[in-house]
Amino acid sequence: MIVVGSGLGGLTCANRLAKFGRKVLLVEQHFELGGLAAYFRRKGHIFDVSLHGFPYGMVKTCRKYWTKEIADAIVQIKRIIFDNPQFKIETTFDTEDFTRKLIKDFGVARETTEEFFRFCAGMNFYDDQTTTTREMFERFFPGRSDVVRFLMEPITYANGSTLDEPAITYGIVFSNFMSKGVFTVEGGTDWLIDKMREELERNGCDIMVRATAEKILCENGRVAAVRINGKAVQTKSVVSNGNLPRTVFELIGAENLPADFAQPSAQVRLSTSNCQVFLGIREGETIPDIGDLIFHSTAPEFAPDLYMGKPPVSRSFSIYYPKTRPGVDRYAIVSSLGARYEDWDGLSPEEYKRDKQMLIDNTLDVLESYLPDIRSKVDYAEAATPKTFERYTGHQRGATFGTKFEGLKMSENLPKALGGMFHTGSAAIIMSGWLGAANYGVIVGNNVEQYLDKA
Ligand SMILES: Cc1cc2nc3c(=O)[nH]c(=O)nc-3n(C[C@H](O)[C@H](O)[C@H](O)COP(=O)(O)OP(=O)(O)OC[C@H]3O[C@@H](n4cnc5c(N)ncnc54)[C@H](O)[C@@H]3O)c2cc1C
Repeated sequence: MIVVGSGLGGLTCANRLAKFGRKVLLVEQHFELGGLAAYFRRKGHIFDVSLHGFPYGMVKTCRKYWTKEIADAIVQIKRIIFDNPQFKIETTFDTEDFTRKLIKDFGVARETTEEFFRFCAGMNFYDDQTTTTREMFERFFPGRSDVVRFLMEPITYANGSTLDEPAITYGIVFSNFMSKGVFTVEGGTDWLIDKMREELERNGCDIMVRATAEKILCENGRVAAVRINGKAVQTKSVVSNGNLPRTVFELIGAENLPADFAQPSAQVRLSTSNCQVFLGIREGETIPDIGDLIFHSTAPEFAPDLYMGKPPVSRSFSIYYPKTRPGVDRYAIVSSLGARYEDWDGLSPEEYKRDKQMLIDNTLDVLESYLPDIRSKVDYAEAATPKTFERYTGHQRGATFGTKFEGLKMSENLPKALGGMFHTGSAAIIMSGWLGAANYGVIVGNNVEQYLDKA
């Protein structure tokens, strides 16, 4: 069977199937594995693209479906800082600390706080999907835009969700984080992806990079082969880890799908995208401990739209101290913000370069409030935009978190529409992020195994 794409969903699915003893070919169009779990090296620096923080659940997922060595490298990040006109707070980002802060700093009643946590923790996919996150907050914290900001801002950064998504998407993701806090991989993304590749190879998975799946070839309502770099490779089943609408309408094609699947699928909305600024600190320089993850905003109140602004008013900073990669005595800073594709598409090369430079300058201006001498310490600065994400992943409009909620139905129903065809990876907010994508990889791997058993 063939897995198209090596994001965390594709990698985990491929590994699950290889461990079941299946013959798996993993194809990745980029020259590195990892998808958005990416890293890159420039002028002696290593930058992590999406290693900012994930929930504790990743430990169990890695132990069970990858290796103990990977699970053991997962460590907590403890200094998470909110800095905005409504409040400045440092937290370990877990239920205990959030409860304490909601009661003490925000003056919320203990019963309300506890009921809110219970409510979120009790949510699951089969619950009511009509209540929005906005309505949920209004029920628990009416008129408290500061509390909503405290509870929602990190989730907006984490998956681009707004107050108008189904409340269960918030509840599931928030509760995942609240279980024990925010975690990272000691060793960095490069170490993790190397270890995953080793494990895949140990389990007999064949891996091809610079290999683009161009078309799924179908016969009698079933998958028959995949055209990879111009050559048809026969297979009984395919898992696509690529962007969902692209998988359905480009790789497969509506002509190969029943109309009652293709038509509603055309309505599925993509998630938004991101910009990032990567700052490398000159070798030999140090920076003081200003926190691990800072949510900085100058917006007077929280509004998800403000997280996509150009010029931006809200962003996060991840500070990578030498502890990120023990033995490598280097510092780096990565700032991330939401972004709309249309703000970056259609610019002339000069305008694009100018706007990227403005983003870098604006980021350094903000950073100076924490590190006044930062400009003299940075010897490498680069920006990524939705165009960058589109280019490196092939995701339409550079969508970085897959699709909005309705995408999950489309992803789950794909095998019913075309025999042997599966999708895994970012969809519907709850299946995005490192944990969501990896767990979805496991679920889909199990479904493929059942399908192949019967085939
Ligand atoms: C700026 C940013 C910051 C983030 N920060 C965090 C964070 O701190 N914590 C967290 O948990 N999550 C974070 N995320 C989200 C997280 O990285 C993603 O949700 C997750 O990695 C997506 O995994 P995926 O399985 O959906 O696949 P993706 O990572 O989207 O990868 C899909 C892969 O498929 C390949 N592909 C697509 N089409 C084809 C084709 N036709 N042929 C061959 N290959 C193909 C692509 O090249 C790509 O490698 C962040 C994302 C971004 C962009």
